[in-house]
Amino acid sequence: MRAGSLSVEEEEEGQRAEWEAVVGLEIHAQVHSASKLFSSAAVTFLAPPNSCVALFDAALPGTMPVLNRRCVEAVVLTGLALGCRINRRSYFDRKHYFYADMPAGYQITQQRVPVAERGVLRVPGEWHGRERNLGITCVQLEQDSGKSLHDAAEGLTLVDLNRAGVGLMEVVTEPELTSGAEAAAAVQELQLILRTLGTCQGIMAEGHLRVDANVSIRKPGQPLGVRTEVKNLNSLRWLSRAVDFEIRRQIGLLETGGQIVNETRSFDVKLGFMPEPNLPSLVLMGDDERPMNQRQNRQGLVSVSALRALLPELPASRRSRLIRNHDLRPDLVTTLVKEDGLMEYFEEVIEVGKQDPKIVINWVMNDLLGVLNECGLSVSQSPIKPRVLAELINLQIDGIISSSVAKKVFTMMWKDNEVRSPVKIVAESGWSIICDPVQLEAACIDVIAKHPKQVELVRSGHAKVLNKFVGQVQKLLDGRGDPAQVKRILENKLLPQTGDGHCS
Ligand code: ADP
Ligand code: MG
Repeated sequence: MRAGSLSVEEEEEGQRAEWEAVVGLEIHAQVHSASKLFSSAAVTFLAPPNSCVALFDAALPGTMPVLNRRCVEAVVLTGLALGCRINRRSYFDRKHYFYADMPAGYQITQQRVPVAERGVLRVPGEWHGRERNLGITCVQLEQDSGKSLHDAAEGLTLVDLNRAGVGLMEVVTEPELTSGAEAAAAVQELQLILRTLGTCQGIMAEGHLRVDANVSIRKPGQPLGVRTEVKNLNSLRWLSRAVDFEIRRQIGLLETGGQIVNETRSFDVKLGFMPEPNLPSLVLMGDDERPMNQRQNRQGLVSVSALRALLPELPASRRSRLIRNHDLRPDLVTTLVKEDGLMEYFEEVIEVGKQDPKIVINWVMNDLLGVLNECGLSVSQSPIKPRVLAELINLQIDGIISSSVAKKVFTMMWKDNEVRSPVKIVAESGWSIICDPVQLEAACIDVIAKHPKQVELVRSGHAKVLNKFVGQVQKLLDGRGDPAQVKRILENKLLPQTGDGHCS
């Protein structure tokens, strides 16, 4: 390639840099509830087709919706966790469209006034140099649809209504994301919040969370471009890929004189909605209200302040608390909070052992999480309990065993399913640290004698080679030599002595 010319990739990169992508998400989260939003039919993932269908879900004439209180509580909790304003009164609407898996010909949703509006999702990691705050437009309650199964052999479309009418929380974000990776990070954080709240199980592979991504591009400073919608993404990886693919497609199209077309929808936005006549408005008891009269009491309104009091510590608060209290690296804390039960495990080790959090987090993140992942186990299934890990780390910190012996003990306990305590293993294996200076010196002399070339290197100023000697001595001692003493002995023997402190 000639000097000064651009490669194809560089040229593409240059063009791409002129465009900025804008992404907004609509995330559909199934409410974790025993029964559906407006009927008492069960919500299950693995049930024979059409075995969980109430007459209302099949839209039989004369059947009426009865609002599931659990779903209302879930959407309020979720709205509160996202810092939304909760509307004391919200409304249900019918969104009309015709599709085999929507037997009523409409979906009940909240088009005009949703339960929750204007919140913030705090996504871990930096974004334009700051903690990322993604605006939440609203959280609203709606019905899921059934599923169509296309049977190619018979040339038939089969409809399974088990999912029809399951409660969905639709979380709509502002168009503030700029890439597939950012979109995936945002959904992952929402998933974590929903699981922490227990309002949605959040298993994407089972369809609990499905994402529609709205994508457009523009030149910096320009108004928003025409958007397209990529629907029904049910894995973080596909979300990320699909968004990036769509961004590239749009850039390619506009760069070659094409035009972005916003595909017409399967329903007419203006004509497609009407208020749901069979449901009253959804009234909540506001933050500063008590039931004013007997009628309100009898209705048993869902109370916003009662739910606020139930909010658990949320991921963003957990992260800042852990960073504040233990001075830990943010990326480690993000993983600690993301893995189910890992933060609790870490905190228990600290609580029991009263140890340096930086040492504990290394054990928990590298050793424990590593082997858990390898074996496909969850934190709660770990054969080594926090109390026992604390004991092991204490042996290391108190200088009774070296760090390499500590790893050996850990592996041994893992294999044995923690039958013996660390103290017992160390005692029975004779693994405690060797502090006897005579024994240590003998080992050092032995290693030095066997490596004359490296001795020359150290003496001619390659101080790093000294670490190799430390390693060799430890090998000779089965990793049991007191590291500080070994290092001191080797330094005394190999490094030029600086005399009584005169600088030359
Ligand atoms: P609709 O309900 O018709 O899908 P909304 O205006 O409510 O339309 O927007 C839905 C989603 O689309 C929101 O997540 C919003 O952030 C996103 N969005 C709106 N305009 C754009 C745009 N120009 N580019 C990317 N995303 C957009
Ligand atoms: Mg939409």
